[in-house]
Amino acid sequence: MKISKIEHLGIAVKSIEEALPYYENVLGLKCYNIETVEDQKVRTAFLMVGETKIELLEPTSEESTIAKFIENKGAGVHHVAFAVEDGVANALAECDAAGIRLIDKAPRKGAEGLNIAFLHPKATQGVLTELCEKP
Ligand code: ZN
Repeated sequence: MKISKIEHLGIAVKSIEEALPYYENVLGLKCYNIETVEDQKVRTAFLMVGETKIELLEPTSEESTIAKFIENKGAGVHHVAFAVEDGVANALAECDAAGIRLIDKAPRKGAEGLNIAFLHPKATQGVLTELCEKP
């Protein structure tokens, strides 16, 4: 596969409203979009950092995987998302062939309309890894 950049870092927060003042007022970044991804039970806030982004993830339900993550590990870095140039489906097939455990067997829609898929952290040196592409 061909990875062009880190598309974003996903950071789990209890509350976007409580987290934003740090990112905006202290780090001087600007939130340009907040959206809810219903099927993931998360609200997301995006901030540009040069070529890449920070994605703040706030659970909208106690069943959200983000709620469980915060419960187990506390707020903090949740995943790294790589932009792949030759398609998420191709990248997944390569990972599968390499014996990497997949969370998503096929690409699905994520925030910002991207096609995304996750690799299992047990197969990726402990880092939950997202592959994404613009559709
Ligand atoms: Zn993400």
